[in-house]
Amino acid sequence: LERLGVEKGVMTLVDEERHDYLLSHLHGNIHQRASGGSAANSVIALAQLGGKAFHSCKVGRDEAGVFYASDLNSAGVDNGLHQLEDNHGTTGKCLVMVTPDADRTMNTFLGISSELKEQDIHFDALADSQYLYLEGYLVSSPEAHLAALSAKKHAQANGVKVATTLSDPNMVRFFKPQIEQILEGGVDLLFCNDDEALEFTEQSNIHQAMDVLKQSATQVAITLGKKGALFFDGNELHTIEAHPVKAVDTNGAGDMFAGAFLYGLTQGYSFADCGKLASFAAGHLVTQFGPRLYGEAIDELRAFNQRN
Ligand code: ADP
Repeated sequence: LERLGVEKGVMTLVDEERHDYLLSHLHGNIHQRASGGSAANSVIALAQLGGKAFHSCKVGRDEAGVFYASDLNSAGVDNGLHQLEDNHGTTGKCLVMVTPDADRTMNTFLGISSELKEQDIHFDALADSQYLYLEGYLVSSPEAHLAALSAKKHAQANGVKVATTLSDPNMVRFFKPQIEQILEGGVDLLFCNDDEALEFTEQSNIHQAMDVLKQSATQVAITLGKKGALFFDGNELHTIEAHPVKAVDTNGAGDMFAGAFLYGLTQGYSFADCGKLASFAAGHLVTQFGPRLYGEAIDELRAFNQRN
């Protein structure tokens, strides 16, 4: 700092609110490392509930990639990362910063995950599945986008239902044509949050957005943060109440909602029960830091699922 001519040890705090904000940042020293990506969060949720999930993805053979493969396995998710040595490239990373109001900011380095290709998809596992769940971030790379289109085709040819998510308002803003290609010919189930729904449909309210989304998906779930969610089951619209909690970190809430909802569908639950489970799971998640549950929190989720 001296070499740069910067005077050290000087910090001007602007006002009380900013002061509190800064302090909570400076003292916010909770540090967590977890394997992720939006879809990984969802399949982990599904596996934690007792479902069987297979995740096709791409990481490098570096330390982060080895961590990723074993972390996913220990979370109960099967993955195709047995031949890591073939993956020359750096594993993607995402720095998630959580603000005191439980919201989050993310900075992502995609790394080798953006090189996901058709040959990285495990078509045998796919053909044996009830659902293919396509993460919305796949549209950001031309190769991954093609892989997603091919996986959708393969799923439909094998009678596997297709679910997807819009994932992020920025994906919607910058990759709308690619998303439209994924939705072309329809999908069985579409997840999105309110921001993504409004951005994608260019409508000014959620009900109008739902009407547009219904043209691309048989069923649509639009999540509304602490206001719960709206679900169109193919015939009727349902309101899903949020689980009333004090949120500390909303990172992964939508992923958890989708994972738990999909789990319910694979178990043959009614839509109302899928919604109840998804709401409880996502509400439970936002009361703690990080995009997934650990230890006792998983037991509590399972117990809720057994009780209801
Ligand atoms: P995303 O994480 O994609 O932005 P949302 O913020 O809409 O998605 O949250 C997804 C789901 O998580 C909601 O439908 C709700 O069930 C739950 N959730 C999110 N925030 C809260 C909150 N503050 N209190 C209770 N539940 C919440």
